[in-house]
Amino acid sequence: MSAVRALARPAAVPVRGLPGLRTALLLLALLVPVASATWAFAEYAAARERERGDAHLGTMLRSAQEEYDDVVAAARARAARLAARAAVQRALARRRTVLRGVPGVALVPRAHPEPAAPATAKVVRGDRTLGYVVVGVALDAALVRRLHEASAARAADRVVIARAGTRLARLTPAAVDLRFGGRDYRAAAAPLARGADAPRVVALLEKSTVDEAAVEVRRRIFGVGAGTVFAVALLAYGFAPLIARNRTALRQRAQAARVLSQLADGVFEVDRDGLVTFWNPAATTITGIPADDVLGQPAHEAVPGWQAIHDLVPVAAHPGEPGGTRSDAVLVEHDGRERWLSMSAVAADGSVVYAFHDLTEKHRLEEMRSELVATVSHELRTPLAAVYGAALTLGRGAELEAAVQAQLVGVISDQAARLARIVDEVLLASQVTAGRLHVKDDAFDVSAVVASVADDARSRAPTGLRIESEATEPVDAAGDPERARQVIENLVDNAVKYSPDGGTVRIAVDADDRAVRVFVSDEGLGIPEAEQELVFEKFYRLDPQMNRGVGGTGLGLYIARELAEQMGGRVDVTSTPGMGSTFVLELRRPSVHGSVG
Ligand code: ADP
Repeated sequence: MSAVRALARPAAVPVRGLPGLRTALLLLALLVPVASATWAFAEYAAARERERGDAHLGTMLRSAQEEYDDVVAAARARAARLAARAAVQRALARRRTVLRGVPGVALVPRAHPEPAAPATAKVVRGDRTLGYVVVGVALDAALVRRLHEASAARAADRVVIARAGTRLARLTPAAVDLRFGGRDYRAAAAPLARGADAPRVVALLEKSTVDEAAVEVRRRIFGVGAGTVFAVALLAYGFAPLIARNRTALRQRAQAARVLSQLADGVFEVDRDGLVTFWNPAATTITGIPADDVLGQPAHEAVPGWQAIHDLVPVAAHPGEPGGTRSDAVLVEHDGRERWLSMSAVAADGSVVYAFHDLTEKHRLEEMRSELVATVSHELRTPLAAVYGAALTLGRGAELEAAVQAQLVGVISDQAARLARIVDEVLLASQVTAGRLHVKDDAFDVSAVVASVADDARSRAPTGLRIESEATEPVDAAGDPERARQVIENLVDNAVKYSPDGGTVRIAVDADDRAVRVFVSDEGLGIPEAEQELVFEKFYRLDPQMNRGVGGTGLGLYIARELAEQMGGRVDVTSTPGMGSTFVLELRRPSVHGSVG
């Protein structure tokens, strides 16, 4: 019943921690992919950080260029304003090259070629060109500061103006690594004006800030990766006992189910709502009810004899409860099959688990045993009483006539023979049942056996009863001639016995290629249809109380059928109650070679 308990209520499961080595390997297996993913992601992020630095360089250059263009445009506007002033025109007319009191402005008289400087304005009076006024744009510290401010440069970034021919002037807008003033930079440059000799604005980003940003990003990603590994490891550690417990519980359930399916005892479970929730294969074998017909069904509908089970089987609170919980045999009927079951029940978590085994065979044997005792003692009593009476009378003395004495001795010997027959029948039945009887397989003439049995019967037949035998031609059958005789004798004896009002008993033999049949028919009591099969059962008698005064053990037909079957034949009956019965013994024909295999 422990398996049943495990099924109904899995016992507490001892949990073993994961062994150290296995845990380490598991964590390593977890760590490697997370670490490599983190590494790859950090590298990617660092590269992106560098790209962002280079993009920032480009932005700085563009802003500086725009600012420089603004400066130039302002200078050009100033040049145009100056060109319109009378003082400038006068100065140019006097071929002066500077304007007194106005620094950074140059005057270029008409005789000179037009200056290339960006902030230049033509000075015209009437329709005559007097010359040009040029406002200089100084590439000085102030301009550099202005460009720096305009370029959204960060504190560590630098903006430099490089004149043509210097090292910095060789830089292009493509960012490169550069060492400048004792520091490492990412650097790029763009021309401030058209022309190869134009000065260039150079943007410098200190490399350490770019690298630091990349390192920072990498550090953050590694931090997240490590945190993830730690969290997963923690989860795994936390869940390990639960997983182990579940696995063990599952294994135990499977084991319990396996044990229950192999058990020879039937086991079923009825839950608190009265539904059948478990039905093992042995329960199906014993009752003949498949699991599909009962599972999920109310027990009172699906389980035959449920009321008796419910009323008679005590339910123990736990298995092995003192006082015993096994019921007396409970009768369960299904599909016309009666089963005697010994059942016990135990409560488990609101359900009740029933276990049972089949007592039907044992029950039948017990019934047979008591029937045997009753029948045999009953059968023995009549001849014993006769022997006892005759012996007492004989013992009384010499005054008895010789004829009476002889009659009494006759009674004693007849009754002793009857006693011997009864004992023989009982012994034979037990040998047949145990399969210990040896039956020969010879070819023999059935007609001869029938003729001899008929002669014998005629000599003993009561008055008013005729015995006719139609067997004349020799007919070969296969089997044991002695046993065949025993069977035919029994059928004829019965025909005589169960024809109390006389009539005719006919014995006929019929044969074809495959079988020989001996028919024994009478005009006696007959056998009701429902009992025509039952009379071949051990101890079965139509009139067990002997109301008709005909005695018997109920073993004759059982033995006859068993012997016939052992010879490869059969015994059957057809009958009409009140009209008579016809019994037939069918035997095989011998094979061509004489002996039957
Ligand atoms: P027994 O004759 O010793 O009772 P059998 O096994 O020979 O046992 O027969 C079983 C029962 O079958 C008999 O008790 C009787 O009721 C019935 N029976 C057998 N032969 C005949 C028959 N020829 N006519 C009517 N009933 C019969």
